Amino acid sequence: MIILPAISEHIRVAPALFDGSYTKDATRSIPDNGTSDFWNAWYADMHQAITFHDPVKNFLEHINPFFGYFGERIHPERKSPYAFHSGVDIAGKNKTSVYAMLPGILEYSGYGLVNGKYIMLSHPHIITQDGYVLHTLYIHLSHMRFAFSAYQKMLREISLHTYPRISVPAGAELGGMGKTGASSYPEEYTHVHIQCELRNKEGHIVFLDPLRILTGKEYRNLTADTQHPEDFQDIYHTHRDRIHEHKLEAIWDMPAS
Ligand SMILES: [Zn+2]
Repeated sequence: MIILPAISEHIRVAPALFDGSYTKDATRSIPDNGTSDFWNAWYADMHQAITFHDPVKNFLEHINPFFGYFGERIHPERKSPYAFHSGVDIAGKNKTSVYAMLPGILEYSGYGLVNGKYIMLSHPHIITQDGYVLHTLYIHLSHMRFAFSAYQKMLREISLHTYPRISVPAGAELGGMGKTGASSYPEEYTHVHIQCELRNKEGHIVFLDPLRILTGKEYRNLTADTQHPEDFQDIYHTHRDRIHEHKLEAIWDMPAS
């Protein structure tokens, strides 16, 4: 059992996914100040206490630095500044294997309009002193290897407390990366969106930075502070090679040369 310090005093309402305004949804939060002493120590504790399996082989090489990290970014589709990214995007070929980062319990395996095919695991051995449990989500999958049977689904629906538990070991192959659901990226951009959340019994969710947990380091999107369209175009000219390397030219809507 890993018990982390209480977080309730150190969170704020999460900004909107599209335009940096505040959501009215008070049940979704983020750390109030990621660079505060509290969160620096909290993330460092978590990183040291837990051993993670890589969600995708060599995942750090497959995260685009423009929009793929957690936190603020230009929204890749709407081009709105200060849009909030609730996870990390790891790109690759269709059906590239995605693995469970931690041992956990299958909470959901199915389809959502936005998430597409996705799996949610809970990790009840990792909790905060104020009752938040770590959950991890693997989103936009091509296929899934863990699912409830029809009978188990029925049991879950009729009984909230005795539903069947499917344990998932760390490193288990959950499925493959795909492009199901609603993606902010161009059509052909296959990736898995990985999300780390703390959830409590009241249904309150706190989004955490998956990379900071996995690597102990903080990564910021190159578009995190970009406000104006002309600055956005400047990024294309400065980082053209990396944009091509990550196959993101279409976002800038410029002909390749
Ligand atoms: Zn994403």
